[in-house]
Amino acid sequence: MKVIILGCGRVGSTLARLMLRDGHQVTVVDKNIDAFRRLGPEFKGTTIIGNGTDEETLKKAGVESADVFVAVTNGDNTNIMSVQIAKTKFQVPKPLARIYDPIRACAYQELGVDTICTTLIDSRLIRDHLLGRELGLAEDYCSLNDEEAVV
Ligand code: AMP
Repeated sequence: MKVIILGCGRVGSTLARLMLRDGHQVTVVDKNIDAFRRLGPEFKGTTIIGNGTDEETLKKAGVESADVFVAVTNGDNTNIMSVQIAKTKFQVPKPLARIYDPIRACAYQELGVDTICTTLIDSRLIRDHLLGRELGLAEDYCSLNDEEAVV
């Protein structure tokens, strides 16, 4: 698959290396050139410097023919906005935004933006680990529509 990863932080760079190892074609976009150091010297994918909400940058990254677009910058708004562009403007088949804020993740999911809320996933996993519970299924950790998202 052709995979575009927006944001080359800890998650983005780790995901890029995992996807490459699994044989995918990976392009990583970040506005800060120094961030690409996290990919390591052996990285065989493509790197593009630019703002992930800028359509020209996304085109340079190959969004028009991408199968997957995943936004994992440290900004929820940037992730939501770039995924909406990838989905509606460029019809990327599998767009995904990492959202820290559970409330926003629920709200945008209801609006049709594909989101994953790592705050909820981490909290549930840590709780289960601490309580010595048997781990659940992926959907137990990823679900967005429950009371844990509400404060
Ligand atoms: P982290 O703080 O480890 O989650 O890393 C987030 C990464 O996202 C950093 O490398 C930032 O430079 C990058 N980033 C944040 N906003 C944007 C943006 N609008 N466009 C491209 N990269 C961004």
